[in-house]
Amino acid sequence: MRRAATAFIQWIDSDYCPDGAERMRAEPDRVDLVRVMPFVVLHLGCLGVLWVGWSPFAVWTAVALYFVRMFAVTGVHHRYFSHKTYSTSRFGQFLLALYAATTVQRGSLWWAYHHRHHHQHSDGPEDAHSPHVHGFWWSHIGWITSRRNFPTDYSKIKDLAKFPELVWLNRLDLLVPLLFAGAIWGMGAWLGTHAPQLGVTGPQLLVWGFFISTTLLFHGTACINSMAHLMGRRRFKTDDDSRNSFILAIITLGEGWHNNHHRYQGATRNGFYWWEIDPTYYGLKVLSWTGFIWGLKPVPDSVLEEGIRAEHAATVAAAQRAALAHPEYSSLKKVLPTAAAFAVATAASAQTTMPRKAERPPARRDVTEQAHELGAKTVPPASRAPDQP
Ligand SMILES: [Zn+2]
Ligand SMILES: [Zn+2]
Repeated sequence: MRRAATAFIQWIDSDYCPDGAERMRAEPDRVDLVRVMPFVVLHLGCLGVLWVGWSPFAVWTAVALYFVRMFAVTGVHHRYFSHKTYSTSRFGQFLLALYAATTVQRGSLWWAYHHRHHHQHSDGPEDAHSPHVHGFWWSHIGWITSRRNFPTDYSKIKDLAKFPELVWLNRLDLLVPLLFAGAIWGMGAWLGTHAPQLGVTGPQLLVWGFFISTTLLFHGTACINSMAHLMGRRRFKTDDDSRNSFILAIITLGEGWHNNHHRYQGATRNGFYWWEIDPTYYGLKVLSWTGFIWGLKPVPDSVLEEGIRAEHAATVAAAQRAALAHPEYSSLKKVLPTAAAFAVATAASAQTTMPRKAERPPARRDVTEQAHELGAKTVPPASRAPDQP
């Protein structure tokens, strides 16, 4: 009962830990159903679509809010607060934290603490969300529900915890999502009155723009914790099992290049080469032209060269493996030149046995000449004698 009351208060004040955050973090993994209720409500809210129906405007709002807020997850929670890959002013930092709070992935400081912890212990026993240690579902969604992962360890993120406004936003991590949901509902209600041709209502826009969009946003992000350590190619031999995946890069606006990122976390871009699509980086680059952010950090040349060398070695190794696994390919290398030489030699010898061009009968002959020849062969000279005078 006391635990349920604590969990209830933590909905409002996420730093409330009567027994101490340290003790809570030391507990074994255990799902706290009361504490996790807002997260459950977020998923159940999607079922509201059965009552509110849909309209093109509501669906497009859900899609737009997915990508606009995915940019906040990747460009703000991850590349700014977790890794400080670019700079901004203190006020700009507060605006970024406000923007990122609309993603409903708790506060930026909680996000950054857990993410830095992941980089320190990637795919090790201490990693809170490794699919190799805890299994797929725990790495994807289970770890969020565990009591030990609720508190933020401010001592591990001192560079961020020194800003009281950020700590305040982190502490009241349900405030911005509630205001955001209310704004979406209000916008739907306003459009229902002033633009009835759109077919939108307040509840309909709330279900699509908030519940469905935010649930998809959570799972898109969670794919990096689960799928990006299981699916894709490993260019760099990092200590973990991180991977690069084009599909995950599309879903997450560039975070799918996770193996690159585990190799070098200090760069603003995760797609290290031009062919690795990274929309978050493109967006941050454009934002830097406005002066709102600056000091975007590049990938060091040494890391880029290491990646090219690794690609080359992987290509050679793949060719060698193919030759071993499919010996017919290596046999073909010997058979084909022999067959070609044989064909050329045969053609050359055939050329010498053929009649010379001058000795051959003409390809075309005069029609009169052909008729005379034909007449000489078919009509015997004796039969023509009576006609002659
Ligand atoms: Zn990772
Ligand atoms: Zn990271």
